[in-house]
Amino acid sequence: MKIAIAGYGVEGEANYRYWNTPENQVVIVDESQPARDIPVDASIIVGDDAFTKLNGYDMVVRTAGLALRKIATDGKVWSATNEFFAKCPAPIIGVTGSKGKGTTCGLIASILQSAGKTVHLVGNIGMPALDILATIQPDDIVVYELSSFQLWDLEQSPHVAVVLMIEPDHLDVHTNMHEYVAAKSHIAQHQSVGDTIVFNVTNQYAQQISELSAAKKRGYQTADFAHVSDGYFWYGEQKLCSVDTLQLAGAHNQDNACAAINAVWEYTQEGQVIAEGLAAFTGLPHRLKFVRELRDVRYYDDSIATTPGSAIAAIRAFDQPKVVIIGGSNKGADYSSLVDEIMASGTMRAVIAIGEQGPVIAELLKERGAGKAVNVQVSHSMQEITTTASACAQPGDVVILSPACASFDMFKSYADRGDQFIAAVNGLE
Ligand code: ADP
Repeated sequence: MKIAIAGYGVEGEANYRYWNTPENQVVIVDESQPARDIPVDASIIVGDDAFTKLNGYDMVVRTAGLALRKIATDGKVWSATNEFFAKCPAPIIGVTGSKGKGTTCGLIASILQSAGKTVHLVGNIGMPALDILATIQPDDIVVYELSSFQLWDLEQSPHVAVVLMIEPDHLDVHTNMHEYVAAKSHIAQHQSVGDTIVFNVTNQYAQQISELSAAKKRGYQTADFAHVSDGYFWYGEQKLCSVDTLQLAGAHNQDNACAAINAVWEYTQEGQVIAEGLAAFTGLPHRLKFVRELRDVRYYDDSIATTPGSAIAAIRAFDQPKVVIIGGSNKGADYSSLVDEIMASGTMRAVIAIGEQGPVIAELLKERGAGKAVNVQVSHSMQEITTTASACAQPGDVVILSPACASFDMFKSYADRGDQFIAAVNGLE
């Protein structure tokens, strides 16, 4: 077959490895010179309009982030996700949503591992799916984190589909919200009666998607299925374990845990196994992740919180008095709801305002009368940020890096910001 590998990033590289076999003639195609090394014997076509000149190929393998409308070919358009779904010998639990995918996939995998299953975690948080396809056995289970880009042209749906909260996102690639939801719908559209769909009943988009499915429907946080009540996780009337079993803070993570419990119910229904799995998952890096306890102050790294909404979720996740580190580079966000939250929280010990937006946020807080109720400090280096936070905190408090801003003013990335925070916190004496 004559195959074009369209887009050459991490996924394109895995696609090339997979399809570059003696019986295929493979060409890498991209709009600009790829940053990654090209194999010495590979053919490559680079050009602004390269994706529109793909007539004559039997198959064009679209990398997930490449919009379908950018490709013009008389061949078949295919993707790594389609290939994986077509060939995978094991059942697949697919998870989508705007927020919480990685965490929910991690919880699902952890519970299934506690149940003694061999689990393969693929998608954004795991391995490129095609790299591990050959190792998967029929009795294993695959947990697949699915973005709208991967779902866009998916021709098969997973056995268990999980649809978390959906909100406007990625509208730089998708033409509009309708197209974004339509792309995500493929997680449900091709399901059959033997399959299961788990969805967020309070989210209109998740509900719309569930209606397209022929599968058994399990809304989460509903009395018939997994939900939280009186400080316990329940499945219908079966009491499973205390919510304290979950090592992740915040009501949103209890939602994610309920989605995970619904998703694994086909495979395990034992409270003890579910409790072990929930307890074993201590979270993904930089997502409201516990770093250290020092003099009865607990430090959390939520560097991935680059929007006011995610910083608000972090503030709401703790009842204790808190010191919150906010600021960074500007993404054009409106801070008014975050400032409202800080002023109304009643548990805000101090705000450490950092980076380019630090003075802007400090000024907004002062205009609202902070200063008396909330101590506002402007800090510059990571060292100064953590020593100031430590000086403001009192025993029993939490310190949270949840910046509500991008990181590029002071750091290489949100991960670099989080790593530097962890190092500085661990260096506190
Ligand atoms: P994703 O993989 O979809 O990006 P993650 O599980 O990595 O999601 O979580 C990223 C951030 O999204 C978390 O730090 C938290 O702030 C927020 N988040 C996670 N789950 C939810 C949820 N169910 N509802 C709202 N926000 C959430």
